[in-house]
Amino acid sequence: METQNNWVARSLQHVWHPCTQMQHHETVPLIPVSHGRGIWLYDMDGKRYLDAISSWWVNLFGHANPRINAALKDQLDKLEHAMLAGFTHAPVIELSEKLSALTGNALGHSFYASDGASAVEIALKMSFHAWRNGGQTEKQEFICIQGSYHGETVGALAVTDVSLFREAYGPMLQRAHVVASPDARLAQDGETATDVALRAAADLERVLQQRQGKVAAVIIEPLVQCATGMAMHDPIYLRRLRELCDQYQVHLIADEIAVGCGRTGSFFACESAQIWPDFLCLSKGISGGYLPLSLVMTTDAVYQAFYDADVRRGFLHSHSYTGNPLACRAALATLAIFEDENVIAANRQKSQMIASAFAGLKDDARVKHVRQQGMIFAFDAVVDDAERASTFSRRFFSAALQQELLMRPIGRSVYLMPPYILSEEEIALLAQKTMNVFEEVMA
Ligand SMILES: *Cc1c(COP(=O)(O)O)cnc(C)c1O
Repeated sequence: METQNNWVARSLQHVWHPCTQMQHHETVPLIPVSHGRGIWLYDMDGKRYLDAISSWWVNLFGHANPRINAALKDQLDKLEHAMLAGFTHAPVIELSEKLSALTGNALGHSFYASDGASAVEIALKMSFHAWRNGGQTEKQEFICIQGSYHGETVGALAVTDVSLFREAYGPMLQRAHVVASPDARLAQDGETATDVALRAAADLERVLQQRQGKVAAVIIEPLVQCATGMAMHDPIYLRRLRELCDQYQVHLIADEIAVGCGRTGSFFACESAQIWPDFLCLSKGISGGYLPLSLVMTTDAVYQAFYDADVRRGFLHSHSYTGNPLACRAALATLAIFEDENVIAANRQKSQMIASAFAGLKDDARVKHVRQQGMIFAFDAVVDDAERASTFSRRFFSAALQQELLMRPIGRSVYLMPPYILSEEEIALLAQKTMNVFEEVMA
């Protein structure tokens, strides 16, 4: 039988891993995964790892979920794929109907792609083209928020403000305007999260005023900017953002790729502020973490801006796997679980259990900004030594593996984004393991 080490060697020989300095694998372990069950991943040696970050934020209801597996097996024998131009099929129709209903039909038109970055590209192009079709050809600029992350293809990277991802490719990009972040951690003495949000909204208004008539859309990750380190903001920012977009006639793009699908406590993060955007991007959790699927939901107004006899006024965008039936079927099974198991309400309890399990952190001097939004929990480690700070994340990751735990802090922000199926005992186990690793890494 082939050993685990052999698999690792073969992977390092021929697989170029994402978001990875390959040389780090001289010291950081690479784990060949054999199979998954529920919240656990198993390596080739049979060692298990608690998947506390939902396999890059995609998995909602565990690995090898019986309901999603059954739906996919059924779909596999019916239709694996058909082009979505000139053809349609039940899974994509039913999914679009269900998603529309979840927004009270405010966003009644869904356009499909395969990954998150493509959904962002679609929203940007659609906004630009909708204005153009309406005779507003001057609206060509985009605004994003400090610390934003919207994906790493060239268009999405242009509205991404995580310097690590953007620096090298800066000259390739048509830069967007970057406005102040509403991140509650930026509160100065005496300021509340609301104050920070309103201060940031004022900065946005300044740019909207300056660039009046030139801006097509503002793009935001509602409630939590995940990739920059789980930066959370007051929902009042979203309400203010909606008002400003209406006032200055600018589209609002909500990138709910990470925060959608119940992650922040409501099915869509925008619901927390009782607003709807003009475009809402979904990916990651929508297929339950099974298959690459993304989509952009939009309004009747945007849809009508393209509705015409002229092909050139149509939305000119397509991907080979647009609306893939297997992926849509996985999404339908995922939505059925939400409905049948009252997941949003159950998560509210689990979110409280997670808060209680980490209650001890509140008076821990090695920790600041303990924060939570639904099923995202995070805190920042206080590490003064620059060298130790820069290696914190990798040291934590390696130490976590020793504790049967899969966690990858972002910088010094330690976070949990677990699948929703965690039981109370598993939450206690997760908290215990996390704290053990934290003690070890801080020692
Ligand atoms: C992950 C993510 C993306 C990009 O999705 P990919 O499928 O990785 O291309 C875009 N926006 C947000 C907020 C994300 O978290």
